[in-house]
Formats: sequence, structure tokens, C-alpha cells
Amino acid sequence: MPYLGLGVYLSEDGKEVTNAVKWALEEGYRHIDTASIYENEEGVGKGIKESGVDRKDIFVVSKVWNSDQGYGSTINAFEASLKRLNLDYLNLYLVHWPVKGKYKDTWRALEYLYEQKRVRAIGVSNFMQDHLEDLLSSAKYVPMVNQMEFHPYLVQQKLIDFCNKNTIQYEAWSPLMQGHIFELDIMKSMAAKYHKTIAQIVLRWNLQKGIVTIPKSSKKERIKANADIFNFELAQEDVKKLDQLDRGKRFGPDPNNFDF
Ligand code: NAD
Repeated sequence: MPYLGLGVYLSEDGKEVTNAVKWALEEGYRHIDTASIYENEEGVGKGIKESGVDRKDIFVVSKVWNSDQGYGSTINAFEASLKRLNLDYLNLYLVHWPVKGKYKDTWRALEYLYEQKRVRAIGVSNFMQDHLEDLLSSAKYVPMVNQMEFHPYLVQQKLIDFCNKNTIQYEAWSPLMQGHIFELDIMKSMAAKYHKTIAQIVLRWNLQKGIVTIPKSSKKERIKANADIFNFELAQEDVKKLDQLDRGKRFGPDPNNFDF
């Protein structure tokens, strides 16, 4: 699984998302993160085709939406996503949110799709430790990924440690705090210190913590710049400084109180 991917939440279906995917693939991204609820899978599929990059070299991720959870409906939702993407397999399929009373049946469907080799890897998103422990008590396969809101204001180190211990790859959504990261003075001074952009500093921090990250942009220059994070290293003291900004602040919904 490539450590850096392109997020496409709120990239409009059609030209906007198709171009974003094409530009990302041109710039060397090999991982695209979409979901059926983003309503842009068709445009993502077009971008993949038009890029000319070999399908086998791209890691494509989608997610089953809450209203589709349950065994049979998840399998139908998966097939519908594939059709919209114009692909014959996915690299990773995720349970988007832990819908109470349903996520275990949804997980069984993902296990089936995995065994049928329709998907190369299966995982979850927005699962807190309680959800994971509950799922693990009956799962045949341990989720391979947990995609969570993650940025300097929401680190959840205990959950990261739990995932690492259980060989569940931690992945960051909203790594740029949905744009709020650019307001932080400490980020401005760190960017000046390393002669890098704020986005590059925070994304590099993700990498150094072993966390997969999927920043979203639909602008060519930003997509390019956000990928330029493999040629420098943050000092350990700066990694710690960013860790210490943690204040449990979410910009997205709380998985424990999400109104499904
Ligand atoms: P993000 O933290 O990636 O921030 C995106 C915002 O930052 C956009 O407004 C963008 O224009 C801006 N931006 C990007 N690069 C910039 C740059 N270099 N300079 C200035 N501004 C820049 O927010 P996100 O989209 O919420 O999260 C990333 C991805 O994570 C999504 O696109 C989606 O694929 C995924 N996601 C998953 C879930 C989930 O429940 N699993 C939830 C939210 C998002």
C-alpha cells in the first residue's frame, strides 16, 4: 500500500475529479482514495483510464456507505462501485463507518469478496478500539487498514498503538485538518525552518509516524507539491512538537456519536 495517496472527497464528479486523478498519477501518486458517498467514482475511473498508467500499478480504494451496510447489500454496493469505476477489482475496500448492529455482517461480506479475489485487501474506517475489539472477536480476517481522522490536533496515539500491535495499518484522513493546518503559527515556523510548505511538513510527519496519508486537492500545483515529501526528514524533536499539539479536536464526526 503506497504511503501517499490522493483523497478525492468533495472533488466534483466529471472534469474536476478526472483531472485531479490524472495529474496525481502523472506526478507519481499510485494510490487513489474514493468512496461511493463521494459520488465521483465514475470520474475517478475515467482519470485512471486516461492517465495511461497500468492498472496493476495503481492502488484503488473505495468504501461501503452506511445505508448499504449488511451482508447482501454490501456485496451489491461493491459491484456497483466497481462498475462506476470501470474496474474489475479493487485494491482495498473499507467499511466507511461502524454502523451499530450492522458492521459485523458488512465485514463478513468483505471477507467473502476478499476470498473471491474481487478485492486485494479489506479494512475499516472510523473504528475506535471498542469497535475493533468487537469485530476481532468474531472476524475471520483482521482488518488490514483503519482509516481515521488524524492530524496534529487529533493524534489518538493509544488507538495507533493498538492498531500497530494488531498489524492494522493506520491511515490518516483530513491530514491537513481540512485546510485549518495552514492557520497554525507553529506550522508556519516549521515550514520556514525546513524551507518546505506547511502541507509538506505535516504530511512528512505522517510518514515518519508510519501512517498512510491521503491529502485532498484538485489543483495541479498543490497535488504536485503535496507529493514532494520524500527528500527531507523532520528532526525527532519536531516530530514530538507536532505530537504534542494533540487536543482531541475533530473536524469531522465522532465515530462514537455519529448520527447514522
Ligand atoms: P484534507 O485535510 O486533505 O484537506 C483538504 C483541504 O486542504 C482542501 O480544502 C484543499 O483545497 C486544501 N489543500 C490541499 N493541499 C493544499 C496545499 N498544498 N495548500 C493549501 N491548501 C491545500 O481534507 P479531507 O479531504 O477531508 O481528507 C483527505 C481525504 O481523506 C478525503 O479527500 C477522503 O478521500 C478521505 N476522507 C475519509 C473520511 C472517512 O470517513 N474515511 C472522511 C473524510 C475524508
